[in-house]
Amino acid sequence: MEKKELLYEGKGKRLYKTEDDEQLISVFKDDLTAFNAQKIGNEEGKGALNCKISTQLFHLLESYGIKTHLIKTIDDSSQLVKRVDIIPLEVVVRNIATGSLTKRLGIKEGTKLPFSLVEFYYKDDSLNDPLVNDEHCLMMGLVKSESDLEELKRLGREINSILKKFFEQRGLNLVDFKIEFGVDKEGNILLSDEISPDSCRFWDIKTNEKLDKDRFRQGLGGVKMAYEEVLKRILEK
Ligand code: UDP
Repeated sequence: MEKKELLYEGKGKRLYKTEDDEQLISVFKDDLTAFNAQKIGNEEGKGALNCKISTQLFHLLESYGIKTHLIKTIDDSSQLVKRVDIIPLEVVVRNIATGSLTKRLGIKEGTKLPFSLVEFYYKDDSLNDPLVNDEHCLMMGLVKSESDLEELKRLGREINSILKKFFEQRGLNLVDFKIEFGVDKEGNILLSDEISPDSCRFWDIKTNEKLDKDRFRQGLGGVKMAYEEVLKRILEK
């Protein structure tokens, strides 16, 4: 399958058309951005690492019956994916308090949450991706119905329980993560976008070392090494 014209360029990926209207090619970029693109960087090989990590995790989730947009990988940093209409919500699932949760609610950094928390953020850079509640989502038509909203929460929790266990077995705490969903031609809700250290937080269970994009956000260095370590753990049997 060949890349045709560029359809969309985001912060982490480029989406190209193909000869098939229902299939797109997603190319993972080496660019890194944080704080709504106020901090910008580039790490050679990061795109390929995220592509491999995300592909592995999508295959894992598929094996548990989660439907995704992934068709197959094409090369080191590209995937062939199903064309979907992206639901303009970032679905964030949290197990341990950090990041914006601690800032907004004053919960102590590192607090283990009593249950996994699902939040929705409205995907709009000009508004800084604000936190929204169920009624905002329905009022603004960001989802079609209450049952779609419930489905997003259910999928978020299920994906969390699969990934949390998978990473625990590999010595990593899945602290929190962001996922996105799309709707295909038949109206199915499919896990889309990516799951990678750009969109998750991983803390080493033994050392608490951060192995994710916080290394870039906080200027800790060793970004690529951390992503390589996550891939290595994923590939452990
Ligand atoms: N996240 C993301 N994209 C965003 C915002 C957040 O992938 O635009 C991820 C982030 O990597 C973390 C989780 O969602 O794993 C929760 O992020 P948080 O709300 O704490 O935001 P932050 O502190 O990064 O601003």
